[in-house]
Amino acid sequence: SSELMKGKRGLIMGLANDKSIAWGIARACAEAGAELAFSYQGEALKKRVGPLAAQLGSDIVLPCDVSDEASVDALFDSLRDSWGTLDFVVHAIGFSDKSELRGRYVDTTRDNFTMTMDISVYSFTSVVKRATAMMNAGGSCLTLTYYGAERVMPHYNVMGVAKAALEASVRYLAEDLGKDGIRVNAISAGPIKTLAASGIGDFRYIMKWNEYNSPLRRNVTIEDVGKSALYLLSDLGSGVTGETHHVDAGYHVVGMKAVDAPDM
Ligand code: NAD
Repeated sequence: SSELMKGKRGLIMGLANDKSIAWGIARACAEAGAELAFSYQGEALKKRVGPLAAQLGSDIVLPCDVSDEASVDALFDSLRDSWGTLDFVVHAIGFSDKSELRGRYVDTTRDNFTMTMDISVYSFTSVVKRATAMMNAGGSCLTLTYYGAERVMPHYNVMGVAKAALEASVRYLAEDLGKDGIRVNAISAGPIKTLAASGIGDFRYIMKWNEYNSPLRRNVTIEDVGKSALYLLSDLGSGVTGETHHVDAGYHVVGMKAVDAPDM
């Protein structure tokens, strides 16, 4: 374990289980010496998140449903009571109705479009506003996005549109908060088998496609994402803000299927 994050306090939002990207990031931060707090969505997840937090020496485990403004306020009120200040926040939250993560984007309903944008996009802005009110210069905010924001990926549909808006928010937030010495970035992760990902149609095929066609010829893990998150959350990333950093085994640079890719 290094001293990279020693003395730093961070809030991790979006931990559901030990497959969550938030777990890979939390572990990397804790190993580097950070002190962590966690938020969970709904009572059902409390019994999962509590023991995981304890494994990393954290006993600050607070409820927060980001679709409810009062719930977000309550989270930051209690965090302020426990800690006073905050050094970093990780937003690993996204949601859309599963029935629209398959088939055609054109069939997206107004209700699901609005809900997806609210939970997957606006919540980051809402969290950053409150988190940065507790931060000093050197603070860092991080969210998670996917390549479906930039290019059409099968079944990603409304979530791709939401991630495009999320990446644009990262740039606007970076400008707003840069004057205070606070950085805002996103990691664009390659496909990883998590609870959220299991809602996406043909996800196994998408994983195979990425494995065969990415320069590293493999999929990424939550440990890969954790290590890159550590760079963006710590002083190692001091000159980086407004960035969407790809942790995808290089998939996003490839324009054509490689000749050595096997038939799928
Ligand atoms: P996950 O299911 O482990 O995490 C998703 C989290 O979002 C859960 O903890 C869930 O409780 C939380 N959430 C959903 N609605 C919420 C609400 N209203 N209030 C509070 N929390 C809410 O899955 P994951 O794959 O680790 O997802 C984390 C982030 O990573 C998401 O933004 C996802 O889009 C992004 N991402 C995932 C992949 C992938 O392939 N798994 C790739 C790129 C980006």
